[in-house]
Amino acid sequence: MVMFPRCIFKRVFQQFYSGHQETTKSLLSGFPTALLHGQRAAGHRSSSSLPSVSERTLIAIKPDGVQRRLVGQIIQRFEQRGFKLVGLKMLQVSEDLLSQHYSQLRTKPFYPSLVHYMTSGPVVVMVWEGHKVVQATRTMVGHTNPAEAQAGTVRGDFSFHVSRNVVHASDSVDGAQREIQLWFQGKDLLNWDCCDQTITCEL
Ligand code: UDP
Ligand code: MG
Repeated sequence: MVMFPRCIFKRVFQQFYSGHQETTKSLLSGFPTALLHGQRAAGHRSSSSLPSVSERTLIAIKPDGVQRRLVGQIIQRFEQRGFKLVGLKMLQVSEDLLSQHYSQLRTKPFYPSLVHYMTSGPVVVMVWEGHKVVQATRTMVGHTNPAEAQAGTVRGDFSFHVSRNVVHASDSVDGAQREIQLWFQGKDLLNWDCCDQTITCEL
């Protein structure tokens, strides 16, 4: 039996009862074949194969964000913007992983306190996908020092001191690739078709 995601099912029903059968037909014909059949169809071009929308970045909610129960609100911001979550996990970071993640900061005076902070409790690490996602999420996260972060950014809304700035976001496409490989195994990242992907941008 063909299973429809609820959002499409609802729209098909609405269209049918309002008498717009033609629109209903076009709605279904435009819907990704892979989703109609519950699996990726041969030859179907998923958004993940399109360079403009398949950029990925690593976002981590740091221990203070988890302790302060900000996980839901932070995830909501990236979902609301239209980005696609392709990886998610919660873990207690090891010093070894952290030293690789922050390898360029090892000589900084604040490095020991950064390690103490980042290993003080669990973190929630995510991979988000979308058009220019690295740059866009850096802007959404805000200035490294929350005292200088704009209101409306995660750091600007939820923190005030650089030692507890709630969230990490990769700062470049190359950096994101390196960090994603460090934190995730390939099998833990999902290529999936989001039902609004032809509505949020022109593919
Ligand atoms: N950090 C700190 N004191 C500083 C600068 C940075 O504790 O004076 C911490 C802070 O948690 C920051 C992290 O080190 O997020 C990594 O620093 P980076 O310069 O890479 O900033 P980010 O990319 O996180 O904005
Ligand atoms: Mg950085």
